Amino acid sequence: MPEITVAKTAGFCFGVNRAVEMVYAALAEGKQVATLGPIIHNTDVVNDMAAKGARVIEDVSELHPGEYAVIRSHGVGKDVYDALTKLGNPVIDATCPFVSRIHKIAAEKSAEGWYVLIAGDRDHPEVQGIIGHCEQNYDVFEDQFVLKGIFEKNPEKKLAIMSQTTYNRIVWGECLKVLPDDDPNIVVYDTICTATGQRQTEAAALAEKSDLMVVIGGRHSSNTKKLYDICSGICRTYLIERADELDTLDLSNADHIGITAGASTPAHIIKEVVNTMDEILNKDNITEEEFDFAQALDESFKKLHTGARVKGIVMTVNNSEVIVDLGAKQTGTVPASELSNDPSKKPTDLVNVGDELDLIVIKVSDQDGIATLSKKRVDEQAGVEKVIKAKEENTVLEAEVSAVVKGGVNVFYEGVRIFIPASQTGLPREASLDGLKGQTVKFIVIEAPERRKSAVGSIKAVSRREKEAAKAKFWETAEVGKEYEGEVKSLTSYGAFVDLGGIDGMVHISELSWNRIKHPSQVVSVGDVLKVYIKDLDQENDRISLGYKKAEDNPWEKFLSEYGVGDTVDAKIVSITSFGAFAQIIDGVDGLIHISQLADRRVENVKDVVSVGDEVTVKITNIDEDSKRISLSMRAVGEDGDAEYDDEEEEA
Ligand code: SF4
Repeated sequence: MPEITVAKTAGFCFGVNRAVEMVYAALAEGKQVATLGPIIHNTDVVNDMAAKGARVIEDVSELHPGEYAVIRSHGVGKDVYDALTKLGNPVIDATCPFVSRIHKIAAEKSAEGWYVLIAGDRDHPEVQGIIGHCEQNYDVFEDQFVLKGIFEKNPEKKLAIMSQTTYNRIVWGECLKVLPDDDPNIVVYDTICTATGQRQTEAAALAEKSDLMVVIGGRHSSNTKKLYDICSGICRTYLIERADELDTLDLSNADHIGITAGASTPAHIIKEVVNTMDEILNKDNITEEEFDFAQALDESFKKLHTGARVKGIVMTVNNSEVIVDLGAKQTGTVPASELSNDPSKKPTDLVNVGDELDLIVIKVSDQDGIATLSKKRVDEQAGVEKVIKAKEENTVLEAEVSAVVKGGVNVFYEGVRIFIPASQTGLPREASLDGLKGQTVKFIVIEAPERRKSAVGSIKAVSRREKEAAKAKFWETAEVGKEYEGEVKSLTSYGAFVDLGGIDGMVHISELSWNRIKHPSQVVSVGDVLKVYIKDLDQENDRISLGYKKAEDNPWEKFLSEYGVGDTVDAKIVSITSFGAFAQIIDGVDGLIHISQLADRRVENVKDVVSVGDEVTVKITNIDEDSKRISLSMRAVGEDGDAEYDDEEEEA
């Protein structure tokens, strides 16, 4: 019981449909027409047209006087147009607008001196037509390997690269890989028709879920052959032109059969194939959803109108535009200038292949088959509403600074430009704003966007608000004794200001060290993180006094816990008086070596024995805890018994 699935994109594309309709319309008007080559690669259609009076000729010289010359969707070179003008025959130009676009690009670039490189089959009429619009500076390449060779042979040349509309998108991707990025001497035009891309993508997806694929189309049709190549690389695939060929195929051993068709295959032939296949298999099991290809075709010809909101799937992205599939006969193009208001962003920064975009139609050209669209206008509409709401609700927004401009910086929020004056950046008056570029900043909208005025934002207001909130939170929980960890923000001669999380407290210089210091910078630096505690609070004046010295760090306590009377220690002479020398035992704790204890002889002058900075070994001979005085003796070092102490003690 095989399930038959027909690809939605099977059959006539926009360009072929347009050409066929143009011929039938001319025939219906009784015109004598001759097509320059078969109008499509489909003998049924060509025979039907012939029956109605259309001739197929190979060269303009075969035209009868007054006969309408039909240029088919593949297009022709400039020489053919010139010959027709010379002959004076009327012309029905059914060149697909997508192909005409390539002619235009090739002619312009070639005239400007660029070396035009065309990806495709050199012998294909479409490629021949494109070549016919170039001056002598062109070449054709089949794949990335040939392109690489051309590129390496012509390193100096300016290359304009484009492709046949039916070129394989996968190979095209490989070709782009062999080119250097951002080379100003290389310009790439993605001219692969989206109808082709869609059909190829869908055929590949359908082949993946099928055991057997049937591709319907002319054996000479390049796009049909490509479909065949794609599908046969995935599963068993047959190429047929008509339903009566089905009898010759082996349709067995297939649970899922997929059907697709080339761009020149009329819907009635696809229908016939489906019906015949159904008869052969004697089953009525066509997937309904997939079978309504005729409807899908109609839908694909939906009209677009200027101002309409549409959705588009990104097919390709390059530096100048984004090509989107709109599910309509026109190809959608979003010029880079219509993607975003932010000039610092390239299309590749903003969208990726496969993204679905909300767009607005700004121009439709049926002649060119192109709909020009804008993303930024959709974004702007939505963005403006959001910015106005943010202003009303005082919401904090976040965006990247895109540029430093006169008097401030610009950020873009949801496509809306917001100017932040220098005075609202929160930076000091003379500070450079350059450092803000590229930074993500928080701001509030202080002026909503108006017709001719952009919105105005303020970073400073956010910092102020955050500070206020932090302050309120601090006062809710602050109490004497509570500990905080904070960064030193600034130093003055009388203390250090420490950030407690949005509010600063001050550690007085006397609190910074157990030793006497002249300036806070002797013990702390801006940026240091200190553990502090609240000593005193004055909420009315927003004053917070902080303590920093800790009891366990008190050198006197430390000394008492580590030393005792009788210990011999190394100490450093820190000052000299007439009655003795003070020696530092540990940081913040000094003891006195009385003159009588400097040596085991009589000393007249302290300086005869020691100098400031000398390292000496002393014995602790007394500790007066109340007055925090320590007596030391050099004389007693090494003596067994007690020394006779002449204690004179000084404050530690
Ligand atoms: Fe059809 Fe696309 Fe070719 Fe035009 S360019 S004829 S739409 S396949």
